[in-house]
Amino acid sequence: MTYGVSQETAKRPKNIIFMVGDGMGLGQITASMYAQRNKTVFDRFPVTGLMTTQSSNHLITDSGAGATAFSCGCKTFNGAIGVNAKKHPCPTLLETADSLGMATGIVVTCSITHATPASFYAHVPERASMEEIAVWLVQNRIDFLIGGGGKYFNKRTKDKRNLVQEMEKTGYQVSTNRYDSIPKIPGTERPFFWITSEEEPPSVLKGRTFLPEMTQKGISFIQKRDNSRGFFMVVEGSQIDWAGHSNDKLTLIAEMADFEKAIANALDFAKKDGETLVVVTADHETGGMSILQGSNLDSLDLKFTSKGHTASMIPVFAYGPGADFFNGIYDNTDIFYKIKKAMGWN
Ligand SMILES: [Zn+2]
Repeated sequence: MTYGVSQETAKRPKNIIFMVGDGMGLGQITASMYAQRNKTVFDRFPVTGLMTTQSSNHLITDSGAGATAFSCGCKTFNGAIGVNAKKHPCPTLLETADSLGMATGIVVTCSITHATPASFYAHVPERASMEEIAVWLVQNRIDFLIGGGGKYFNKRTKDKRNLVQEMEKTGYQVSTNRYDSIPKIPGTERPFFWITSEEEPPSVLKGRTFLPEMTQKGISFIQKRDNSRGFFMVVEGSQIDWAGHSNDKLTLIAEMADFEKAIANALDFAKKDGETLVVVTADHETGGMSILQGSNLDSLDLKFTSKGHTASMIPVFAYGPGADFFNGIYDNTDIFYKIKKAMGWN
């Protein structure tokens, strides 16, 4: 509890904003910085660390095992969502926050049922079970939800349940505005769910813009909704990973810039608030990307060595009370324990 913890960051945070750039390794961060002419939001973080990411059955993790490592603190197999290596459900940080009376939120640029967000509220052994994952969302009553994947709620193939109607019956305010038409955020007396699309939301280059704004509005919504015990919010730049899988350099740079804007909004809030811990990391690197000789700030020659994930260590950035816990080299499962320690959760 005392390793190099400075006075400033030894305070306990009240709120947590946990941000994941899916597939965001050091190469992606560096390329984004050069593309913005040597500017990067990451230089606003006083604390950085490095993290190993292997899953229980592979040196190279997927997003399910990677996010479950953060959310539950256990190594599990690729494809797992909120279950340990023996397929037993493990309690997540978001569920713990909720049980302690904190407000909760998830804002992502993929389906809300996709592996990373799902690992914070669902418990299934197979990430492809999207309809089953959607049911967990109905039960969990998260205060602020933004993401795609509407069809898993109201065009279900395995049962005829309409989860949108069920959520409305339990008090949710649901918007089905298309991804490019940001809805007016309603009053905070009831939880809010914006389903941005039936399928996956498109990339930034194809017209999606909501992540930075919804990060900011989500923070202000859940803060107003219940500010007595603090909040726990998960934000994901989900499509950095997809750009890596498709070795698409322009999309990658655009998705990184979008995620950086969301981070800037979270940091602006945390700076004013003074009681918020912001942690930014990734589940793994995607694409084995490097910046080749001959590149300059006007023209980056990015080369991918893979269409899949890689096993490089992943940077972690922390800001605010409790940030010092995130210094050094550690394992992805330690993120869970560091957040618990910072919050004083036993
Ligand atoms: Zn991936």
